[in-house]
Formats: sequence, C-alpha cells, structure tokens
Amino acid sequence: MSPEFNLIAKYFTRATPGADLGVGDDAALLRVSEGHQLAISVDMLVAGTHFFHDAAPYDIGWKSLAVNISDMAAMGALPRWATLAIALPEINEPWLAEFSRGLFACADTFKVDLIGGDTTRGPLNISVQIMGEVTIGQALRRDGAKPGDDIWVSGRLGSAALGLAHLQGKTVLNGEVAEHCLLALHKPSPRTALGLALRNKATSCIDVSDGLLADLGHILEASNLGAVVTLESIGCHDHLRSHLDESIIQQCILAGGDDYELAFTAPQSQRNAIEQLGRQLNLPISLIGQTTENPGIRVSYKQNMLDISKKGFDHFG
Ligand code: ADP
Ligand code: MG
Repeated sequence: MSPEFNLIAKYFTRATPGADLGVGDDAALLRVSEGHQLAISVDMLVAGTHFFHDAAPYDIGWKSLAVNISDMAAMGALPRWATLAIALPEINEPWLAEFSRGLFACADTFKVDLIGGDTTRGPLNISVQIMGEVTIGQALRRDGAKPGDDIWVSGRLGSAALGLAHLQGKTVLNGEVAEHCLLALHKPSPRTALGLALRNKATSCIDVSDGLLADLGHILEASNLGAVVTLESIGCHDHLRSHLDESIIQQCILAGGDDYELAFTAPQSQRNAIEQLGRQLNLPISLIGQTTENPGIRVSYKQNMLDISKKGFDHFG
C-alpha cells in the first residue's frame, strides 16, 4: 500500500452513514432527500494566511470544517457531507492525528460525513468542500432583504478578532479574557440550528466571517439597500465592554472577522418569533438596526454618527 493510501485509511476514513458510498472509490455516492436542493460551498485555508504555521493542528482541523458548516448555516441548509483536499509539506503523523481528531470532532458535533478528498505533497493548504440540503426555494439568500426590515445578529461579536490581535501582539489581554477570545478564534461554533430555524422567518442571511460591516454590506448590495445600525445594540462579551478601550471594541465588533455568527434581515412582524427563537436556542440574538432604501451603512453610537470610513477606523494600526 502506498504511504498516501495508508494515511487516508488511518486518518481520514470513518463510517459514513449518510452516504451510499464514502471514502475509497473513485467517487462517493450521495442521495439528496426528496424536495431538497443541494447546497455546495468550498473554502481554502492557507498556512500563514488563514492560520499560523504553528497553530494547534486540532484547532486547524476543527476550524477548516467549521467555517464551511457556517456557510451552510448562512444558507439555512442542513450540512451533510464534506470532502477534504489537503496538501502536506511532510508526513508528520502526530500532526495528522491531531488534525484528524479536530476535524472529526467538528464532523461528529454537526453530523457531517467526510466522504472523500485528495491528499498530496505541497505547502500546507487545506480545502474543505461542504454539501448540505435545503428545502427547495427556502434557502436564505443575500438578495432577499426588503426596505424597513429589521437587522439582527446572533451571538457576541468581536471576540475572535480580539484574540487574533492578541496573538499578533497588537493588544495584550489578561488570562480569562485571552482564554475566551482565543477559544472564539480557534473553535468557532457554526449556527446551524439558527440558520435552519430562520428559513421561514428571515428575508436574507450571511455568516460574519470578514466583519459585520463588510458582511452586512454584501446583503445590502445584493438587495439594493442601505442600513442604519446602533453600535450599543450589537452583542459582545461583557469582558470586552468592561476591560477594553472603546475604540478597540468598536473596531472588533464592526470590522473584526472570524466570528461565524449569523447576520440576517427579517420583517418587523417576525420580532417576537425571533426573540423566542433566541430563548429556545439559548443564544443571544440582537436587533441592531433597520434596512433603508437609502444606500450605505450609517452607524450611531451614543446618539452620534460614527465615522466608519476605512482609514479612520483601524485602531490597532
Ligand atoms: P484518485 O486517484 O481516484 O483520486 P485517491 O488515491 O486520491 O484516488 O483517493 C483514494 C480515496 O481516498 C478516494 O475515495 C478519495 O476520495 C479519498 N481521499 C483521498 N484523500 C482524502 C482525504 N484527505 N480525506 C478524505 N478522503 C480522501
Ligand atoms: Mg486523488
């Protein structure tokens, strides 16, 4: 058996109850449930760009699948299958064992089967493709927002960006806060249950991977709208509010990436239903503003408009 084949058998082959055929043949065989569309997305993680070369392999494994599952959540799709294309600079078995453990921990948590992939030698590069199912016509697209819709965001924003700033030496966090922020950065929890529950409620949805303003901007652009947003209403961890410089908090909440929360729009008639959903899922969901026919995003803080033009906004700079 070739060494590559051994690696695949040892680290990337598990039971795939949700597939007719998984790893081992020239292709996997899947069956899409009746009345559903196949939702597909792929994300590539490059060492040195998307994670540090010396990052814990378990975390890399978890995150490379989690960020893809998050894309399914943002579509209102149920994640089901994944493939993994990985380039490895060397055969480092302890690294692979930990990477595989993190990947399958995420796969098990979200009931996703790894059904195939490709393994090759090269600079460390990880590409995961995710496939999921969504009821025909019910996907949460970016182009569905209507003027006057409420804008909501799940969870607490900013922690992952702050964790990254800490690792980059741009800010110094103390023990407990550092722990919380690094966990948010390394082990994002895709909001699958929320995405599925929003199918009959939200008019548009996106996952916050590049920062709230950027990602909300994608919804607004696709829907031809603008927005007014109140900074105070955006959920963030108590630690951040009480321990940090205000401008850094703003930077992390509005422009920080890697949170993998969901930002979505919904008609005001859904307000009670969405609040109830937050209680059911035990997940804070904040009403942060409204869409407008007027283009552009306007952010207010303590009754004042913030200058969110890019240049004036890099408080770590
Ligand atoms: P092929 O030559 O047909 O591309 P490979 O030798 O690349 O086949 O792969 C053999 C089997 O192992 C295939 O079913 C493929 O999908 C699977 N596979 C290869 N690499 C991975 C990986 N990193 N994770 C999961 N499955 C993999
Ligand atoms: Mg191959």
